[in-house]
Amino acid sequence: MAYNLRCPCGESITALEDDFVAKVQAHLAAEHPGREYTETEIMLMAMTVPDRAVKSD
Ligand SMILES: [Zn+2]
Repeated sequence: MAYNLRCPCGESITALEDDFVAKVQAHLAAEHPGREYTETEIMLMAMTVPDRAVKSD
C-alpha cells in the first residue's frame, strides 16, 4: 500500500505506507515551518495509490 498527498503548496508527496507520514512531516518541517499535523490528520488527507506510483529516488 502506498499513499499520496498533494500539499497546498503544489508539492505531491508519494511514499510507501511505512515511510509516508515521516515523509509528509519532513516536507512540512522543511517547507512550512510551524505547520504541524498529526499522523491521523495526515492520513485523513492522504489518498491511496498503487505501489508503482512511488518513485525510487
Ligand atoms: Zn508543501
